[in-house]
Amino acid sequence: MQKDLEEFEANLAKFTSSKYAFGVADGTAAIVIALKASGVQPGDEVILPSHTFIATASSVHFVGAKPILADCGPDHMLDAKSVEKKITSKTRAILPVQLNGRTCNMAALQSLADKHGLLIVEDAAQALGSKFNGKCAGTFGKAGTISFYPAKTLGAFGDAGAVLTSDDETAKLVRALRDHGRGEDNEIVMWGYNSRLDNIQAAILNLKLKYYEEDVSRRREIASRYQSQLGELKQLQLPPAPESEKEHYDVFQNYELEADDRDGLRNYLNEAGVGTLVQWGGRAVHHMKKLGLDGSDLVYTDAMFKRCMMIPMHPYLSNDDVDFVSETIRNFYKR
Ligand SMILES: *Cc1c(COP(=O)(O)O)cnc(C)c1O
Repeated sequence: MQKDLEEFEANLAKFTSSKYAFGVADGTAAIVIALKASGVQPGDEVILPSHTFIATASSVHFVGAKPILADCGPDHMLDAKSVEKKITSKTRAILPVQLNGRTCNMAALQSLADKHGLLIVEDAAQALGSKFNGKCAGTFGKAGTISFYPAKTLGAFGDAGAVLTSDDETAKLVRALRDHGRGEDNEIVMWGYNSRLDNIQAAILNLKLKYYEEDVSRRREIASRYQSQLGELKQLQLPPAPESEKEHYDVFQNYELEADDRDGLRNYLNEAGVGTLVQWGGRAVHHMKKLGLDGSDLVYTDAMFKRCMMIPMHPYLSNDDVDFVSETIRNFYKR
């Protein structure tokens, strides 16, 4: 926690228009700390999408709260209507996941939170710089989190994460929780974690942050190129295109689409040398039976997991690469 960390935190806060940004060990630790600092308590229920990385749910678990899984909509983001059905007298917080570099419809989620007196804590691990109505992912709720895992849009050379907040009291708790409960003057004011962001990672992130907007524009260009080359295929459902909705500014951490005969398409692409992935090893959180979480009514998520996949998306793809991927997909459906 030296000068590079302080500088990175200041630059990250500025970039996201958050009052505070705190570097922490990784994106999972960030969620645990954000939930605790926001006041989520053992026994509380926290509503999150089942279409997320297990870390979102495990963070809720390790705070002593209960993860309650909700459905997503056609843009693969947490669906406010499904969230509303999951609210009980024990619900304390909504934990939207800003997935694939897109921000949820935060107006709908905020009005639910206001109506039922709930906190919002965001998992924006995949969405640094993504916006809804001009406001950055991670800055809507009491606290929000970012991951700098190497495969994220802004990747460190190892694990790293951050907590964003604009609330003074929450900021004080985050600062203490990430560093053994130390308050000002090194006095221990509470039980805390060792969850510091290494100075060397902060230095790397600080340098890479300077070029981040260029990387995001390239990702958006690639998404537009996929849209123009694949948009007419009826067998595919593409993610919303970059300029298609004025509320959203997406940073395209991933390009996750839905496809007829998904597994056939993946094999065909694989044989042509094009790598694809299905997120979370092909399972939503409620599909991980050993965890025993209820997901019996998550209709969209269940159907989507038979159809979803990700095609190449990163700033170093050339236009030729994008065209080759698109042409291979078109050839698959032409056969
Ligand atoms: C990557 C990720 C995390 C966890 O971040 P780590 O830095 O790997 O701990 C949490 N939630 C989502 C949605 C993620 O994609």
